[in-house]
Amino acid sequence: MKIIRSPQEMTVWSQEQALAGRTIGFVPTMGFFHEGHLALMRRAGELADQVVVSLFVNPTQFGPQEDLTAYPRDFERDQALADSVGVEVIFAPEAEDMYPYGAKTAVTVGEELTGQLCGTSRPGHFTGVATVVSKLFNIVRPDLAVFGEKDFQQLAVIRQMTTDLNFGVKIIGHPVIREKDGLAMSSRNTYLQPKERESALSLFRALAMARTLVAEGKRDAAQLTVELERFILSFPGTAVDYISFVDQFTLQPVAEVNKDTVLALAVKINGRVRLIDNGFVDEKTL
Ligand code: AMP
Repeated sequence: MKIIRSPQEMTVWSQEQALAGRTIGFVPTMGFFHEGHLALMRRAGELADQVVVSLFVNPTQFGPQEDLTAYPRDFERDQALADSVGVEVIFAPEAEDMYPYGAKTAVTVGEELTGQLCGTSRPGHFTGVATVVSKLFNIVRPDLAVFGEKDFQQLAVIRQMTTDLNFGVKIIGHPVIREKDGLAMSSRNTYLQPKERESALSLFRALAMARTLVAEGKRDAAQLTVELERFILSFPGTAVDYISFVDQFTLQPVAEVNKDTVLALAVKINGRVRLIDNGFVDEKTL
């Protein structure tokens, strides 16, 4: 497995693969790998000849009060894990090489997709994401890229951007990978103290509860939201950022739950660790 740090060198490598007729599957990440990341890498390996993983904690997608410097990092462990699933290249650039002269250009996807859910509490986040993914697509030149459905709004934003800007990259969504008890895997789970870990389960439990309520015929989104909020707040230290029933394609809130409805959740634990989760809630799509 190769480690490439320079964007120019990365592009040269990709051009060589294209000339040799080999396809590239790409998985953008911020590192500190868990099974969720590895599942995306395996999927990319099934769909393309070579897998490139980028490992870049992108400063422009973090707000001033967010966890950029605290974000967990372990490059050696990540290297071994990526190697174990057959990754060909880890592209791990320095921020100075990604943004050498200060960024003066940004990619902003329309408010319809970025103005709600995580976009409300993280202003500028999706512009940071769309910009860095655009740059990574131009540098790595993949045939396809795999993104997790855990970041379901991000996936919608990337799909839209890829179409709008004619990147010609096939975007593949991968289902959420969970711990045995249902907690969605996340690099940020390492911030959780044992008691907080129990409260973190409130997100998955709320999803399960919503599915039960919908199966019982309760489809009114406002009423469901009230019940779910009460349930989540019964876990110590939880504060709800959002509980939102949205259409899977438009991300707009719905009044009545149907088979295209996704329940999207963001919860802060002890004011410190912000976790997200989502899933369909109608048994017709489960
Ligand atoms: P991150 O390193 O957190 O930026 O995530 C890199 C990629 O892995 C993104 O496409 C995420 O959506 C995806 N991902 C993170 N956690 C999970 C998970 N539990 N299941 C599936 N995909 C995930």
